[in-house]
Amino acid sequence: MNDIATQQEPFRAEVAEWLEENFPKSLKGAGIAPFGGVEGEIPVQGDAADWRDRLASRGWGTPTWPAELGGGGLSHDAAKVLSEEMHKVGAINPIPLLAGMGVTMVGPTILEYGTDDQKQRHIPGICSGKIRWCLGYSEPNAGSDLASLATKAEDNGDHWLINGQKVWTSGADISQWCGALVRTDSSVKKRDGISFLMLEMDQPGVETRPIKLIAGASPFCETFFNDAQARKDDLLGALNDGWSVGKRLLQHERASQTGARPASNKVSGSLQELAKAYVGVNDQGVLNDADLRGRIADHLMHTRAHGLTIARISAEAKGNPAVSAAASILKNSATRVSQERAELTLEFMGHQGVGWEGGDYSEEELEHVRGWLGGKAISIYGGSFEIQNNIIAKNILGLPETTQKG
Ligand SMILES: Cc1cc2nc3c(=O)[nH]c(=O)nc-3n(C[C@H](O)[C@H](O)[C@H](O)COP(=O)(O)OP(=O)(O)OC[C@H]3O[C@@H](n4cnc5c(N)ncnc54)[C@H](O)[C@@H]3O)c2cc1C
Repeated sequence: MNDIATQQEPFRAEVAEWLEENFPKSLKGAGIAPFGGVEGEIPVQGDAADWRDRLASRGWGTPTWPAELGGGGLSHDAAKVLSEEMHKVGAINPIPLLAGMGVTMVGPTILEYGTDDQKQRHIPGICSGKIRWCLGYSEPNAGSDLASLATKAEDNGDHWLINGQKVWTSGADISQWCGALVRTDSSVKKRDGISFLMLEMDQPGVETRPIKLIAGASPFCETFFNDAQARKDDLLGALNDGWSVGKRLLQHERASQTGARPASNKVSGSLQELAKAYVGVNDQGVLNDADLRGRIADHLMHTRAHGLTIARISAEAKGNPAVSAAASILKNSATRVSQERAELTLEFMGHQGVGWEGGDYSEEELEHVRGWLGGKAISIYGGSFEIQNNIIAKNILGLPETTQKG
């Protein structure tokens, strides 16, 4: 056992004891469903509500955030121990899910740019898992070209007055707060006239219209601001410095998307074993399709390279977990690995891999199809695959910018 592991042993024992007393056995291995799933439609109640509140009372839903603001005040090593112990007993941390964009994006940005007053007003609500945040960046004419955003905020004496439209706002219809990029000066270069505002969603000037997807879900909305208001002291960072604040938030977003995720949690086992089960084996016991075998081997090498790249970037940062432009590399390689795995699985499942409903398909197969389709979004949200490549070219490789600055 290394030094760090030894130092963490008393804490590991403390966590195990606390979990034994506080984690409801009924939630063991229950996943996110009792917390409302991705769309948060089901109110959190019973054991799920107790677990959320007990975890939040220790600050362990946001373990490394400052204890005086509702976080756990833990070091990254201790947070890892906490996560390992929770994993052992089949417990999930529901707070990041319940807080929407609060834990992964807005919260870390408030901790970095916020005033003391803003931290005290906003961070505890995120840590509690009871205040959900959404993110108002994209507009009908401002996606990758985010600097073209037109939603306007005017200084109206004792408050900001906001007018305009956002789109693809994930969870806007169920969020209490929004972190929005708004135009506060139209007379300067596009990027120099943007500010980051925090505003309440439950007010007469805000309307959300859920966008219904073909499969019936509505993960995001069109969001309209018609004379919506924000407090004067809810400007995050300096006036007209929203481009820097907003870019930093996106680095936090990408950093939270660096893990390659399977298309479905229900499809278990290694890719090789699954492929053998569908395609069969030859008389030497290897997958009965040489071409597929080669492509699965390529994919496993990409997966390994992705894992090693995460390890290298983290070693280069010397344990400092601060996010950087490298998050763009990891986001793109995670995207590639996830989508490649989903495509390969779909291919060897054959007809069984394209079912939508009905008794001819197993639950795993149906789940996989939805995961494969949903996974297409990974290369779009948080900045598209091509935009990450542009960031890597400019900020990491130092190549000259070819696009025109606004
Ligand atoms: C599931 C999901 C959830 C989302 N949630 C949110 C949210 O909560 N809040 C929010 O504000 N937004 C959200 N978005 C929006 C997302 O940020 C945008 O879709 C994304 O930034 C791309 O913008 P766009 O859709 O306007 O596409 P466009 O910008 O029109 O891009 C279209 C295509 O052109 C390519 N392209 C564009 N510019 C360049 C360039 N300079 N160089 C090379 N290629 C380029 C893109 O890569 C893409 O392939 C979400 C999107 C999805 C899919």
